[in-house]
Order: sequence, then structure tokens, then C-alpha cells
Amino acid sequence: MFRLDGKVALVTGGSRGIGRACCEALAEQGATVIVNYVRGEDKAREVVGAIERSGGKADLAGFDVADTPAVEAAFQSLLEKHGRLDVLVANAGIAVDGLLLRLKDDDLTRLFDTNVRGALTCARLATKAMMKPRTGRVIFVSSVVGEMGNVGQTAYAATKAALIGAARSIAREFASRNITVNVVAPGYIDTDMTSGMNDAMRAKLLELIPLGRTGRAREVGTACAFLASDEAAYITGQTLRVNGGMYV
Ligand code: NAP
Repeated sequence: MFRLDGKVALVTGGSRGIGRACCEALAEQGATVIVNYVRGEDKAREVVGAIERSGGKADLAGFDVADTPAVEAAFQSLLEKHGRLDVLVANAGIAVDGLLLRLKDDDLTRLFDTNVRGALTCARLATKAMMKPRTGRVIFVSSVVGEMGNVGQTAYAATKAALIGAARSIAREFASRNITVNVVAPGYIDTDMTSGMNDAMRAKLLELIPLGRTGRAREVGTACAFLASDEAAYITGQTLRVNGGMYV
């Protein structure tokens, strides 16, 4: 099931957390995985090493998704080296929390540059590469808060909601080329991004999750591997929620 042999997949922000889990899940299914990072080269090398030790294939690509010329250069060199791109997981993202009244212009710019503009630049270049072969998978990593909202996360939630609107549009634009575009919307997953929660915050959060626990990065990676597979060929423009029932 869900074999990805012969496919080439790029995971942005693949060096840690959910991105790392996506890289590992895709590689286990047979894909050659290109692990993107921006600052964490050591961590990204660790991911490549772990995949190779398990018999999989992986490569590194360091670039800032918000730096369009750097993204363009990276796509050009990965296409020259690997000859194709079948799967993009646009996962790279940052969180900047704060109430609307305290929102700083710089934070808004940084969030939208990375989470929205970065994801769309990657999607633009990926779909361009997928058009001629008439096959491809684009998966955006959004968030439960993009759909349900959260106090103190207005700007972050806005970036994550934007990805859902974008995916629905791109899905329509590229359906005739057999390229599917979907969203995975994780709930609260244990990664560096959520490690700042204290015990009281955590207890309050758990009350909101019917399954009674936070999620594992692996559980998001598996959802991405499914959407990347041939078995998901008839799914496009959808949002797959991996949130323990927090938002249904
Ligand atoms: P994380 O542990 O903080 O990892 C973030 C990843 O994104 C790292 O690999 C980082 O690379 C990369 N990154 C950040 N800015 C980048 C940029 N400008 N260019 C390229 N790569 C960049 O985060 P995570 O929890 O795994 O989250 C991954 C995605 O899932 C994010 O989009 C996040 O919004 C979303 N999400 C997370 C949760 C959660 O509960 N954790 C819930 C819903 C949605 P470096 O290692 O090089 O810094």
C-alpha cells in the first residue's frame, strides 16, 4: 500500500518535527526525499543519514522559502540532479503568537513571507515541473487554528487559513494536468513549535481534544504519505484533519 517507488519528493522544513516525520514516511514508502532546511543543516543531515541507514534515498537542499531567488535556484538544481519532482510537501512554517492589539507589522510580514508566500513560491515551481509529465502531488501543511481560530494566534491562523484557500484554487487550476493539491491540517503535535507550553496550558488544551492526547509528528507524516500516493489519486482540494477530533 502507498508505495512511492521512483518518485522524488521535496519536503520544506524537513529538518525537524512534522517535516522530518514527512521525510521519513515518504522515504519508507520508496520515495527519494529532498530534505529542506533554513538554519538547521546539522539536523537536516541527521534526517538524510537516518533515511539512508534505513535503506532509503535522501538529499539535502538548504534554502529559505521566503527568499524567492534562492528557492528558484534550488528548484533548478534539484530538477537538474533528480530529473523530476513528483511530490511537494510545503511544510516549512513559523509561529509568532500575540493578541491582535499587540500585533507588530514586522511579525505579520515575517509570518506571511514564510508561511504563505514561501509555500506558494514552492507550489508555483513544483506545479511548473509537474505540468509536462502530467502527474504530481502538492500538500500544504496548514493547522487546526486556520479553521477554528485561537486567541493570540490571529496572524498565524490567517496564514494557515490562506493555505486552505490557495489549495482549493490550485487544485482547480491543475486538475486537468492530473496534479492533486491538498492540505493536511494538524492539531497540536509534539514538536519544537509546541514545546513552550507549560503544564497548565497543556492540561487546558487536552480538555479540547476528544482523543485526550496531543498528536505525534509521525501521524501527520503518514497522512502526507497517503496523499502523495497513487491510492489518493481521486482526492483533490481537500483538507485532511489530523487533530484528535479537536475540530470536526
Ligand atoms: P518546527 O519543529 O518549529 O520545525 C519548523 C521547520 O520549518 C524546521 O525544519 C525549520 O527549518 C523549517 N523552516 C522554518 N522557517 C523556514 C524557512 N523560512 N525556510 C525553510 N524552512 C524553514 O515546526 P513543526 O511543529 O514541525 O511545524 C511544521 C509545520 O506544521 C509548520 O508549518 C506549522 O505551522 C505546522 N503545524 C504545526 C503544529 C504543531 O502542533 N506542531 C500544528 C499545526 C500545524 P530549520 O530546522 O532549518 O530551522
